[in-house]
Amino acid sequence: MNLKKVILKPAKDKSVKRFHPWVFSGAIKTVDPHCKDGEIVDVFSNKGKYLGTGHFQEGSISIRLFEFTQQPINDNYWKEKLLKALTLRIKIGLVDANETNIFRLVHAEGDDLPGLIIDYYNGTSVVQCHSIGMWLIKDIICQSLQSIVPSLKAIYDKSAETLPSKHVEEHQIENQYLFGKKDAIYEGLEYGNQFSINWITGQKTGFFIDQRENRKLLGDLSKNKKILNTFCYSGGFSIYALNNGAKEVHSLDSSKKAIDLLEKNIELIKNYKNNHTSIVADAMDYIKNVDADYDIIILDPPAFAKHMNARHKAIQGYKRLNARAIEQIKPGGIIFTFSCSQVISKELFRNTLLSAGINAGRKIKILHQLHQPSDHPVNIFHPESEYLKGLVIQVD
Ligand code: SAH
Repeated sequence: MNLKKVILKPAKDKSVKRFHPWVFSGAIKTVDPHCKDGEIVDVFSNKGKYLGTGHFQEGSISIRLFEFTQQPINDNYWKEKLLKALTLRIKIGLVDANETNIFRLVHAEGDDLPGLIIDYYNGTSVVQCHSIGMWLIKDIICQSLQSIVPSLKAIYDKSAETLPSKHVEEHQIENQYLFGKKDAIYEGLEYGNQFSINWITGQKTGFFIDQRENRKLLGDLSKNKKILNTFCYSGGFSIYALNNGAKEVHSLDSSKKAIDLLEKNIELIKNYKNNHTSIVADAMDYIKNVDADYDIIILDPPAFAKHMNARHKAIQGYKRLNARAIEQIKPGGIIFTFSCSQVISKELFRNTLLSAGINAGRKIKILHQLHQPSDHPVNIFHPESEYLKGLVIQVD
């Protein structure tokens, strides 16, 4: 198959040669005529050397490269790539595990499939495409998944929320089941903790799978503790705490819808001891006035900065939020604090905590440095795919 060609400007091939999967519009010298958004293109250097193959889409990131060796891009190619992603999840023990049946099956650039996220919930795969190129091959993805994942019962496409609106309109994209609607089970397990998951009405693909290992760590520290879980969404951290013998848990989110999901999950707790309170409020306002008797506070806000130009403001936001929590926690108390902003590096986040500690006038020890789990692999050539960072600190 002859693919359309894109030729880069002189000296603009460096990042591609280092396997960075994004080609920015400013690097492009020429594009073959009539190249449509979503088409697969071969990328060449100014001297005509083949560099890679990817999905074309007009915009700041113009090409998302998924291949760096010239080869046929056919149905089998995609099936093999998905199989590779699945094999990694089998290797790390997430497939057919007794206690966990929720995991990320495809993590975009981290799995050399830029623009594609697939989360697996106890038999249902929820697909979110971030590029129209990936969405246009969704039927191949769907067929491949059915042939390689024996436990698969349903596939739900939730791309209408993640694709640019011009593509959603042009292709009349709607969130919908691609197959198996009647067999979907809206419940799953994480380390034996039961969760009800609603990918149709919930945020993102329905659940924040990326906090699994960090929730487990919280569970290990929860016995007899009084815990405040802010930005709780459907209560991931709270459920682990309650299942691991926490004395009392308060969960807070500004979204009533999130709190409703959380309360559904509370109902699934066996031997529930009536020791949980839900709070619909703004986290910052609430922490300012809270009683200083929590043993553990969790701060897991949404990304404060989505772009580099919002970074400074985001840092101020993280600093204020963390300084408040550091001021309010009881002596010897522990804070689990996170940032999921891509543009805030690990080092920057740690420095922000240092400033927050100085502002609050209290001493801090770092107990754990946390990150995203191995089903969200980081492509080392694409540092942007490392987004979740966290610190567990003790405040003197
Ligand atoms: N910790 C959660 C994921 C958090 S997602 C888990 O383990 O599943 C971030 C959450 O913060 C969302 O549910 C969103 O509704 C909530 N949120 C956003 N702004 C907020 C604010 N100002 N105060 C409280 N909650 C907020």
